[in-house]
Amino acid sequence: MDEDYHRKHGTDPREEIVIGAILTQNTSWKNVEKALENLKREGLLSFKGILETPLEKLQELIRPSGYYRQKARRLKIVAKELSPVSKVESVSREDLLRIEGIGRETADAILLYAGSRPYFVIDAYTKRIVKRVFGIEGSYEELRSWFEDNLPKDIKIYKEFHALLDEHAKRFCRKEPMCEGCPLIRVCTLPLR
Ligand code: SF4
Repeated sequence: MDEDYHRKHGTDPREEIVIGAILTQNTSWKNVEKALENLKREGLLSFKGILETPLEKLQELIRPSGYYRQKARRLKIVAKELSPVSKVESVSREDLLRIEGIGRETADAILLYAGSRPYFVIDAYTKRIVKRVFGIEGSYEELRSWFEDNLPKDIKIYKEFHALLDEHAKRFCRKEPMCEGCPLIRVCTLPLR
């Protein structure tokens, strides 16, 4: 998150988190960063910026994130529904899920990172690691409950744990796992199978 940008523009950094949560759907963060940079360059990285930008221009700016037509529409809907951004502190998960373009992972990312509320985010990396290390598979909600039941209910821990899982998936537990040298090899069930 670019705190300097928001200080300079008088915008709320939580809006960047919500915008990033939509842009990251079905793409890597590297592509999202390019789209965020484009919005920043134009001074449009805010709900106001999203809502006031003509749809076609918005599509062009976020094109690097892929699915840019769909995402531009979703951004406008979400920016409208979650304005003012302080709504992230109180909106219910159910109401978030009713907004077009917000699925479970996006909703929980918004609640945890923008709303600082204790919802654990399950992403593809998390599912992969849980399956390999513990041999556990389950629906999104089952895995979310599993983490929330087993971790202290602390948003700092939720954020850190999620970040560490993603880092581990990138460094060792890749699509083709690099088990040799992996710090979890002793507890992981995959190399034993
Ligand atoms: S030992 Fe292999 S499968 Fe298990 S967590 Fe490490 S990299 Fe992934």
